[in-house]
Amino acid sequence: MNNKEWLARLSNLTGLPYYEEHRPFGDKNGALIGIHDGYIVALGPGKADRGHSAIKMLLRYAKGQDPKQIKEALDTAKGKFKQVTANETTTTLVRTYSFGKPDAGSVAEDLQKLLATLKTTASPINGKCEECGRAEPPMVLLNDVPMHYCSGCQFQLSQKLDAAALEYEKLETNLPLGLIYGMGAAVLGSIAWGGVAYLFHRIFLWGAIIIGLFVGKAVVMGIGKVNWTARVTIGVLTAGSVAFGDAIFYALTVMSQEHVALMAALKAVLVNFWKLETAADGGIVSILFGLIGAGIVMYSTRKPAFKAQFATLGTPATTLSSTATK
Ligand SMILES: [Zn+2]
Repeated sequence: MNNKEWLARLSNLTGLPYYEEHRPFGDKNGALIGIHDGYIVALGPGKADRGHSAIKMLLRYAKGQDPKQIKEALDTAKGKFKQVTANETTTTLVRTYSFGKPDAGSVAEDLQKLLATLKTTASPINGKCEECGRAEPPMVLLNDVPMHYCSGCQFQLSQKLDAAALEYEKLETNLPLGLIYGMGAAVLGSIAWGGVAYLFHRIFLWGAIIIGLFVGKAVVMGIGKVNWTARVTIGVLTAGSVAFGDAIFYALTVMSQEHVALMAALKAVLVNFWKLETAADGGIVSILFGLIGAGIVMYSTRKPAFKAQFATLGTPATTLSSTATK
């Protein structure tokens, strides 16, 4: 049974409309989306963690419930499903499978049990706007998640996000200050890295991650809004900081072994740096670890998504469901 037939059959069994065009779980065949006793339910094929095939379920209820209580209650009724997340408005469940989709009948049964239990622990939304409580029964999709959101609140949310996006665009990028902060952090990082390595006669790779975080944060602090120049700056300064830290470590070692002045040792090291770095244990690896730290900062400062996309539900695939009953 392909996904479409399976969904159509499940639609018949549960009474939930089947929408081919809406993809709350990312599957191209769509999902069932409907209201059951005032609760919003979405159900359909999707992918679990690590791309495992799964049937996914979304149960939505009125705000202001204790998510822990709901989770505990639903745990007694989840059947072959597994709860993934539960917050004060939504619980998501998955049922993974390896060979062929689970029987639609058993999924419908699981849903029945879950809904019956949900009734005992969470209040239904009952077609009221989840933001302000105004009765406006038609469901909408907000970034593909079905919910009750009245037209007034939709307008307000869009405006708020537009304003936030505008604020963000207006943020200044101060590259010189970012460079100054970043270079200061990089030099401190080099000294700390080289000094610690020399004192303990070993390198601590996680220390390189800390340097990446430190340099990254310093650049971000100076630069304000992070753009591609800032990201490249963070990467280059981090790699440079760890590499120069290695150079300081080699120079300190040469200095104490050969009894030469630090500057002379450093000069000798820098001339042969690449050879030393590739030959040393963990030389290149330490730079890579530094870049992991830098990457964490780059990722955490990426541009936030200021998008609230509202869509009205389309037409359910009724013809399909009637053919599937044969
Ligand atoms: Zn509202």
